[in-house]
Amino acid sequence: MSNTKIWTLWESEKINEDETTLLRKPAAEIPIPFNDEGKRDIKTLVNAFLEMDDALGLAAPQIGISKRIVVFRKRNLDEKTRIKSEQDYDVLINPRITQSRGKMEKTTEGCLSCPEISIEVSRFPEIKVRAYDIHGNKINNRYTGFLARIVQHELDHLDGKLIVDHEGALYYPKEKQNFFENLLSNRDL
Ligand SMILES: [Zn+2]
Repeated sequence: MSNTKIWTLWESEKINEDETTLLRKPAAEIPIPFNDEGKRDIKTLVNAFLEMDDALGLAAPQIGISKRIVVFRKRNLDEKTRIKSEQDYDVLINPRITQSRGKMEKTTEGCLSCPEISIEVSRFPEIKVRAYDIHGNKINNRYTGFLARIVQHELDHLDGKLIVDHEGALYYPKEKQNFFENLLSNRDL
C-alpha cells in the first residue's frame, strides 16, 4: 500500500465535496520549459505512482494536483508486477490527442477516484498523442489496444471527466444500491 492519498468523488457512502471540485476542474498546463513548481509536481506524481502496486495509471488531479500530468504502465498490464525501470511506464505532460482511429470498443473500467464501481466505457482502439516527456522533450506517441484505453482514461482526468460521465452499464456492490442509485441517477456528478 502507498502513503499517497487518492482523491475520490465519494467515500463510504458520502460525497467528498472538496475533492470533487478539484477532480472536476480542468487541470492547468505545465509551463514549458518546466519551472521549479512544474518539476516538483511531475516528481510528486511519478513517485506516488511508483509507490503503488495496484494502479495502471494516475493523473495529477487524483492526488490533488490540478496540473496536466499523467503517468501509466506501458508493460505488464495484466500482471501488475512492481515497476522496475523507466521502460515500464510513460509520463506525459500537457498531452493532447492528435488522432483517434478505429471503431470504438466497449469495456468495463474502474477508477481509483470512483471507488467500488465499474462502468462500461467506449474508447478508440488507437490514438496518437502529442506531449512533453519527463525530460521536457516534445514527443509524439502512438498507443493501441488496452494501452490506448488507459491513456484515454488518464487524459480524461485532466479535463475533469470521469468514468461516471459515460453512459454504459454500471456495476456496484448490491448492499450500497441506494447510495449509488441516488448518486448516479442523473450521472451529472
Ligand atoms: Zn481514473
